[in-house]
Amino acid sequence: MALPNRHLVLVAVLGLSLVVAWVSGRLLDQRANAANVAQASEPERPPPANIAAPTATPSAPAEPSRPLLRAPVRRGDSLSTIFQRHGLAERDLQLVVSSGPLGKRLRTIHPGHEFEFERDENGNLVHMKYRLGQLDTVEFDRVGEVFKATQVAHQPDLLTRYKHGVIKQSLFLACQRLGLDDAFALRLAEIFQWDIDFILDIRAGDEFHVLFQERFLNDERIGFGHILAVEFVNQGDVYQAVRYEDATGHARYFTPDGRNMQKAFLRAPVTFTRISSNFNLRRVHPLWKSSMPHRGIDYAAPTGTTVKAAGDGRVVTMSKTAANGRYIVLQHGQRYQTKYLHLSRFARDLRVGKTVRQAQTIGYVGATGWATGPHLHYEFLVDGVHKNPRTVDLPAAEPIAEAERRNFQLKTALPLAELERSKSTSDLAVEAAR
Ligand SMILES: [Zn+2]
Repeated sequence: MALPNRHLVLVAVLGLSLVVAWVSGRLLDQRANAANVAQASEPERPPPANIAAPTATPSAPAEPSRPLLRAPVRRGDSLSTIFQRHGLAERDLQLVVSSGPLGKRLRTIHPGHEFEFERDENGNLVHMKYRLGQLDTVEFDRVGEVFKATQVAHQPDLLTRYKHGVIKQSLFLACQRLGLDDAFALRLAEIFQWDIDFILDIRAGDEFHVLFQERFLNDERIGFGHILAVEFVNQGDVYQAVRYEDATGHARYFTPDGRNMQKAFLRAPVTFTRISSNFNLRRVHPLWKSSMPHRGIDYAAPTGTTVKAAGDGRVVTMSKTAANGRYIVLQHGQRYQTKYLHLSRFARDLRVGKTVRQAQTIGYVGATGWATGPHLHYEFLVDGVHKNPRTVDLPAAEPIAEAERRNFQLKTALPLAELERSKSTSDLAVEAAR
């Protein structure tokens, strides 16, 4: 069982009162939502059965039957081809497309989008719905000889969830067992990418506790929301992160005491993928590892895996030698230099002298030069001296701004308290099962 955080008691007291406020707030929200739904569905309810007009008597239906057409966008479709396929008038097409700025969005339709058309008795388009996803719809209503476009944004309901995972083979498989998809695993890894090398440093027995949102629309689960708070235990070291959205709406992850998760250098300059994580189980050892002093780290990864700039910097070398193959050297400020060897190719547009941002793609894994298999050989130098990038002390990034600190504490107390509470419940459950 992990040692409880020293601030936990304080946080828990503060958290408890917030939990009460939050839960009651959520209940109110749900009730308000239910009320809205009830109101909205009111006018559509069929009129009460009339004894004087039994169903056997044929009578004109209250609503004129308007043929409703559903048209999913197919590969290569434009709105024009969809209109033709469904026998809709060219004139109506012109009218919806010219219905202001929202009409312009019809120029870039994609498979996965969907249209719904409603026509009157004469076959004229009177209403068109353009669904760009589960949360985004644009509706076009005919008003005489023009169409009025309105954007309908659906607000999903958010449910807070907690999961505890233990890694046996890989982070991906641990997530999969919990019903968390690959994209979720990658987001989790991204939060800790400045502290943990997810390609080389993950071990069986590493574990995580994660508090996150799930999004629902009309009681249907539509996906994951934000990761709110998370703890990752890597080889016995405990890392915690909490999501905080600052006054400008910019969201980042911080440690519970407000230190930035972001640092000047990434731990691993290779994109972590499901393939590379499996690939590494069969590590390749470069030929010269045993015969020459090895001053870098080798990341075995499939050819073509993205190589990222470890930090903000400038390209000082982009070249090819018999030993290094295609390689890049980046300069970061006065003191730091990073080198990337054996690349299959360089990123397009990369030139000597250009500046690069942290995590920007600079090249792709290959096996050029002296290499027995595809891998990235990575070197990290401080003042011209090779250092181990996985253990070297790195310059700290800006902590939470003083002006934001109070708000940070207020906003993060609840998710942190909820994470701790869930952790202790799950620990009890595990102990009970033993
Ligand atoms: Zn190497």
